[in-house]
Amino acid sequence: MATAVSELAFDKEALKRKYAEERDKRLRKDGSAQYIRLETEFADLATDPYTPFVERAPLTDHVTFAFIGGGFAGLVVGARLKAAGVDDVRIIEKGGDFGGTWYWNRYPGAQCDTASMIYMPLLEETGHMPSEKYAHAPEIRDHCSRIGHHFGLYDKALFHTEVTGLEWNQADKLWTVRTNRGDAFTAKYIGMGTGPLHVAKLPGLPGIETFKGKSFHTSRWDYAYTGGNPEGAPLDRLGDKRVAVIGTGATAVQCVPHLARGAKELLVFQRTPSSVDVRANAPIDNEWFAEVAGEGWQRKWQDNFAANLGVGFPSEDLVNDGWTDLAKRMRANLREVPPSEWTPEKMMAAFEDADFAKMEQIRRRAEEVVADPDTAENLKAWYRQLCKRPCFHDEYLQAFNEPGTRLVDTGGQGVERITEKGVVANGVEYEVDCIVYASGFEVGTDYVSRSGFDVVGKDGLTLSEHWGDGMRTLHGNQMHGFPNAFMVQPAQAANFIANVPHNIVDHADTIAAVVAHMEAQGLDTVEPTEEAEQAWLEFLGTGPARALGSTECTPGYYNNEGAGWGDRERVFVGDPRGALAYWAHMAAWRSSGKFEGLEFG
Ligand code: NDP
Repeated sequence: MATAVSELAFDKEALKRKYAEERDKRLRKDGSAQYIRLETEFADLATDPYTPFVERAPLTDHVTFAFIGGGFAGLVVGARLKAAGVDDVRIIEKGGDFGGTWYWNRYPGAQCDTASMIYMPLLEETGHMPSEKYAHAPEIRDHCSRIGHHFGLYDKALFHTEVTGLEWNQADKLWTVRTNRGDAFTAKYIGMGTGPLHVAKLPGLPGIETFKGKSFHTSRWDYAYTGGNPEGAPLDRLGDKRVAVIGTGATAVQCVPHLARGAKELLVFQRTPSSVDVRANAPIDNEWFAEVAGEGWQRKWQDNFAANLGVGFPSEDLVNDGWTDLAKRMRANLREVPPSEWTPEKMMAAFEDADFAKMEQIRRRAEEVVADPDTAENLKAWYRQLCKRPCFHDEYLQAFNEPGTRLVDTGGQGVERITEKGVVANGVEYEVDCIVYASGFEVGTDYVSRSGFDVVGKDGLTLSEHWGDGMRTLHGNQMHGFPNAFMVQPAQAANFIANVPHNIVDHADTIAAVVAHMEAQGLDTVEPTEEAEQAWLEFLGTGPARALGSTECTPGYYNNEGAGWGDRERVFVGDPRGALAYWAHMAAWRSSGKFEGLEFG
């Protein structure tokens, strides 16, 4: 049982000092440059262990819509296009099947952290009932496949294929899509949904290439070595192995309990503890679901979740989880202040108080769950909850009570180096058979670098040039100078990070509406006017600066490893009126049929 918030007493000023001290310990000069790319440095470890590579002839044909990325974005856009009567859709995906992050992340225990009811897209359209409140990865991957089959997206899909170039041809009014498989085909429209977390990174540790044992990144889990499977079968080949995990982020939190049960010995190397709150997963009941899942239910649930995380006072909380809990606490604090006295400062203070209480409760949980007091102390997170990705788990802290599991806390300094035999931390060499890198994915780099290709629009203008001073879009999904091109990503739109698929579905609705209009009217080109793009940017600028990523936070990918964001990144904001208002705006924009701000040709 977690300690009730009402029983918590804490000294806010002392906590603020502690948070700052813990942050300062972790600041480092090399920032994001401390990491190296798995694919660049260790191409052999980056290959797809899940699906055999099949040779095929290069394609030089034509499709109506080419979408880059076969994760949720590609699937949902594909589904909406098909529903709008646009049948000729080709998804290009570097993995061996659909799923994106859910294709690659098959580590044991992988599961969604946002409730399945709102996280798994197109549940209503496909008739699928999630099996549990937080579905595990195999079910999510199967759902991706279900969407692919349901909407006929497999026929034209290209897997194990990476786009290397996208170029607009003004004479033909078509895009040329080039890939690493020698393809050079044309498309009337392109869409890009390459996701923020697909380039696996490793800590750039001296000696990393010299390790003689087994090592892999969590997104390339080697079940042949560990035994077990993504469904959670015991990792039965580790019974005589000493295993190291490097990293304690959201991924490690999910796979550590499995490693703790399977390995002879498990050493968890920690630089910064995650905040690990109660998960409370539960199966979904058929009868309950049948009652809930009336027409339009998923949108209603998604809107309700967004409302609970927004600025209003919604009367019900359908999802009722750790994300909405924090927001409810903040509102409860705010209710104690008369509305006439609500100022931005008072609202920030209400937020801060709720955060201190929540984090104090999470720290108490470590004490209550972990038997060894030193380990419990080292597992406490000293920062505001949204400084890092909040985690929810009911077996992670408990794993440190397994006799063979040990936390190697590095006092914020991290692992120092890798040797032929193992891992060096705190000046001590720990010999191990296997190193699991739970070191995350590249986030702070720019879009073009992460995607691996540039986009050449009208008059040879590249996307990296267009975004030279920062991202510029209309509504977060179209750019002036790039006709018939769409993006699916959260910035300059709803920017609602706790439930990414909600953004995706809305962008897909917009793309399908614009394309259906084009096709119905027999039009060739569409792009935002320069004025509309500029006006949208100016509108975004009227809102507060980024909520996430403060340099007061402990370093991590949210705040560019403590360096903070420059002017170029300051535009990664959402609609200043909030996510729900953005979606309402877009719904009205679509249904008006005027498509204001777009120029058709
Ligand atoms: P993260 O980037 O969150 O974590 C990387 C970890 O590696 C951190 O703990 C980091 O420490 C640690 N690290 C880096 N260098 C060193 C070093 N030299 N020594 C010791 N530790 C080191 O990656 P994850 O894969 O855990 O998560 C990435 C994101 O993916 C999440 O934030 C989330 O958005 C998403 N995700 C979502 C899940 C879900 O929804 N179910 C599940 C898993 C991931 P430090 O904190 O000090 O930098």
